[in-house]
Parts: sequence; structure tokens; C-alpha cells
Amino acid sequence: MDLIKKLQQQLQALDDKQLIRKRRTVDSPCGPRVSVEGRELLAFCSNDYLGLANHRKIKLALQEGAAIYGVGSGASHLISGHVRAHAMLEERLAEFVGAHLEAPRAISFSTGYMANLAVITGLAAGDKEAEIFSEELNHASLIDGVRLARVKAHIYPHADLEALAKLLAGSQAATKIVVTDSVFSMDGNLAPLPQLLALCEQHNAWLVVDDAHGFGTLGEKGHGALEHFSLRSPYLVYMGTLGKAAGVAGAFVAAHEAVIETLIQKSRPYIFTTAAPPAMAHALLTSLDLLEGDEGATRRAHLQTLVAQLDDGLRLERWRRLPSTTAIQPVVIGDNAETMRAGAALYQQGLWVGAIRPPTVAPGTARLRVTLSAGHSSMEVAKLIGALNALERDLK
Ligand SMILES: *Cc1c(COP(=O)(O)O)cnc(C)c1O
Repeated sequence: MDLIKKLQQQLQALDDKQLIRKRRTVDSPCGPRVSVEGRELLAFCSNDYLGLANHRKIKLALQEGAAIYGVGSGASHLISGHVRAHAMLEERLAEFVGAHLEAPRAISFSTGYMANLAVITGLAAGDKEAEIFSEELNHASLIDGVRLARVKAHIYPHADLEALAKLLAGSQAATKIVVTDSVFSMDGNLAPLPQLLALCEQHNAWLVVDDAHGFGTLGEKGHGALEHFSLRSPYLVYMGTLGKAAGVAGAFVAAHEAVIETLIQKSRPYIFTTAAPPAMAHALLTSLDLLEGDEGATRRAHLQTLVAQLDDGLRLERWRRLPSTTAIQPVVIGDNAETMRAGAALYQQGLWVGAIRPPTVAPGTARLRVTLSAGHSSMEVAKLIGALNALERDLK
């Protein structure tokens, strides 16, 4: 068949350029030590920043949720799939970040990808008077949300407040929507949210903040980037994910109740999909308690100790660190082939670190994306430091 042959040729072309991606099958729960293809590895590649993905209390809560609610929700939220557990989760999430919003309300989603499609299309789609201003390094799900909204979109250069100010000042749009990650996934740095918010307030624009990597890890209570920067504004539309630091799955949007009601009424990625299993929402209630309580604080403090340890211990000359204070600690190698060799060499030593190439990152900035977790011990981080320092010399 020609159709199949064509796909095979395309795949071969990827393979020739060494761009084929391979999945590895994990035989253990997510954690600092994982079992992969019969080997025990020390993993520095998950987004389970607080080590909650295999937490005893959350596992029990998931079992309890299944006992109470069964497994499937059976329908979309607007038909019959909106179960008590979802309602409780949404109320809890609105409280969790509500100090930073006006008239806060929250809506839950099965994934962050869908939440981002929903929030951008919900705010903009079909509105001929809307324009979007999207940060250059935004996550793919935000980029896809912007595409799906089919309104005029401007991409502003990374963290370039002046460029954004110019674009906003030059826009006649009645509805302006600025969209940004709070913590950039591949670099680990924070967006200048206070300045972005000031610009949005000045130009009467929404500020949509994707806090996938900040929710649970930033702020004294783990409430995320808005708590970290002590922001509060009716212009804020907050998106947090629940499959990273929160250790479970799903996502939510929190904003003024009028925004949330709009998403419920208009947002196709919300309306036309089956609600997540309610047991998941039930388990998330326990996860949120842990994040906000002493255990969350202890885990965040330990994570910060590990970040400082890595910062102190790495002695790199050719490879470049990025100025990140978060759990995302990239080591930029630059060359694609050397990056892949470095990833493979670490793997040989039992250290699993993500090797990231273009187009996920800009050409010439291929990198090892080291992620730390509160589940790691400092001995484990010391092992990674030793391996990276030695490898930089060996690969020369
Ligand atoms: C992971 C991630 C998402 C998507 O969330 P999922 O729940 O994994 O679908 C969205 N935005 C950013 C910045 C992310 O890192």
C-alpha cells in the first residue's frame, strides 16, 4: 500500500537524522529509583517534583475514591459526568489559589493540555475583537490553543517586556490576551510575572499564566507562582496542572467566576470530552492537603537544598548552566550528537536524564534536562554531580 510506504519512508528519514524518539517501559512506580528493562536506574527526568506520585496516602485515597465512586464518570461534565468529587475538587482548588484572584472559581480538566486548549479558545475563539500575545518559549499546548483560537496572534520574544509593551500599545483589539508559562519547561527560569501583570493591567489585557511547574513547588504553601510573587488581580487567569508536583493527573483553571462560567458554556475542549474518573478527583483532595500542610513545606525545603547542592557541585567548563532556581536544572551542551552521547553515557551508568534536542529547544542549545525531586536523597544528587563533572571531561 502506498499510504503505508509513505509513512515508512518518513519514519526512515527521521531515523536517518537520528530524530527517532524511543519510549522506555517502566516496571515500577514513578520515583527516584525506577526499574526499566530489567535495570535499576536513578531517574532525574520526571516532573514528580515533590515525590508524591507514589505517596501512600494518595494511593489509599485513590482506592477509597474507586470504592465510593466506581471507575468511569460515564459522560462529559455537562451531561451526567460531573460527580460530587469533581465539585469538591473545584471548590478546594478555588480556595487553594483564590487569594490571588477576584471572585475566584475553578474548573477541572483531565489534562493540562486540554485545560490550555480550553482556556485560550474559551476566552478568544470566535471573538473578532480578540488578539493574543504569546511568549516565545510557551509550552506546546499553549501554542496549540492559540492556533485553535483562530484569532490574530503575536509572538513576543522570551521575557522581553519592552517588545510586549509595544505590541500591546499598538493593538486596537477590544480583548487582549497575554499568555505565558510561569516556569519555562526547558529552561527552568521564571517569567517576570509582576511586570507582565502590570502591563496587562495598564493595557486592559488578560494574563493567562500556565503554572504547570510552579503549582505545588512555588510559594510558602505551595500555592504556586502567584503566591511566590504575591500577585492578586482580576486580570489573572491561572492554569495549574495536577500530574506534576501534585503527583496525580489532571489540571484546572482558576479565575474570576465569569471566566469559568464562560469556559463551561463555550469551551469545546471542555464540553466535548468525558469527565475524568471521579476517584482521581478524590485522590487529588488528599494531594492538596499534603501540598498545603507540613509535609509539603518539608518536601519543598528539601528540594531547594538539592537545587543548591547541584548548583554548588557542578564544575562545568564547556557545558553551560542556565540561571534556574527551580527543580528544572538544564545543562546546555549545544551539539545534538554530543548531547545524545552524554544522555547515553549517563544511562549506561544507571542515571536516567532527559536529552532534549531541537525542535523542542532552539537549534544549537541541545541539553540534558535534569529535574530534581524531593524524593531524591543528597547522596543520589551527589552521584549525578560526580557523573556530570566527569562526563564533560570524558566526552571532549
Ligand atoms: C506538562 C505541561 C502542560 C500539560 O499538562 P499535562 O497535564 O501533562 O497535559 C502544560 N503546560 C506546561 C508548561 C507543561 O509543562
